[in-house]
Amino acid sequence: MIREISVDEITPVVKQLCIDANYNLGEDVLSALDKAIEVEESPTAKEVLRELIANASIAREEKVPICQDCGLAVVFLEIGQDVHITGGDLKDAINEGVRQGYEQGYLRRSACHPLSRKNTGDNTPAIIHVEIVPGETMKIVFAPKGGGAENMSRVAMLAPAAGIEGVKDFVVNRIKESGSNPCPPTIVGIGIGGTFERSAILAKKAILREMGERNPDPELAKIEQDILKTINRLGIGPMGYGGTTTSLEVFLEMEPCHIASLPLAVNVQCHAARHKETVI
Ligand code: SF4
Repeated sequence: MIREISVDEITPVVKQLCIDANYNLGEDVLSALDKAIEVEESPTAKEVLRELIANASIAREEKVPICQDCGLAVVFLEIGQDVHITGGDLKDAINEGVRQGYEQGYLRRSACHPLSRKNTGDNTPAIIHVEIVPGETMKIVFAPKGGGAENMSRVAMLAPAAGIEGVKDFVVNRIKESGSNPCPPTIVGIGIGGTFERSAILAKKAILREMGERNPDPELAKIEQDILKTINRLGIGPMGYGGTTTSLEVFLEMEPCHIASLPLAVNVQCHAARHKETVI
């Protein structure tokens, strides 16, 4: 059975996701910040974490963005193979949702021409990643991405012999060199394998995970925790004020790669770890 979904249904959903993601930090992130206060060793860092929670609460109550940087509009779509999209162009429908969401939610528009730096005016075009999956539904994940954290992200093509130690060194050094730039405490997404571009998408998808959700492979779950511990010994701390909470989470995704390659991507997410999703 083919299920029809009209583009007219998609635009308002995207609009609402833009506003919701920018106003309401996820409960899982809030509770991770709460837990961090308990284990953090520095009094200044504890205070900064309290301020981050207060900031998120004000945003939620007063319906204002968590951060002045309301991000570039990143959209992950999982489209069921039994879905037929009707009534127009899917990409146009999503961009219209972004346009309306950023305008009606009073969200800062950050999309610009890469060279002239002229603002596109409406935060479009969205960055849209599409995956075709079994079924007859469409999952839309909206994940606005701030520039400060995104700028600290990297892709590296390591020598295959670098192995897991090479991966750990690269990731930890990346976070060390990033210092306070990505507005810590961060969530570190790691993509290992695939090709150059696939590793980056894996790293970006990794940061969408629920806080506390480990990779189902126990070996990879252990690597996530090992890297997190090492990062939290760097002393950068919340917003760079020093402390033991530099990152809240490390999430790792891995896929097979070419025998001659070891692609590695690190996508850094700031404390304003925004993403919301809907299934239609
Ligand atoms: S990195 Fe995140 S918290 Fe910092 S300014 Fe950008 S969006 Fe805001």
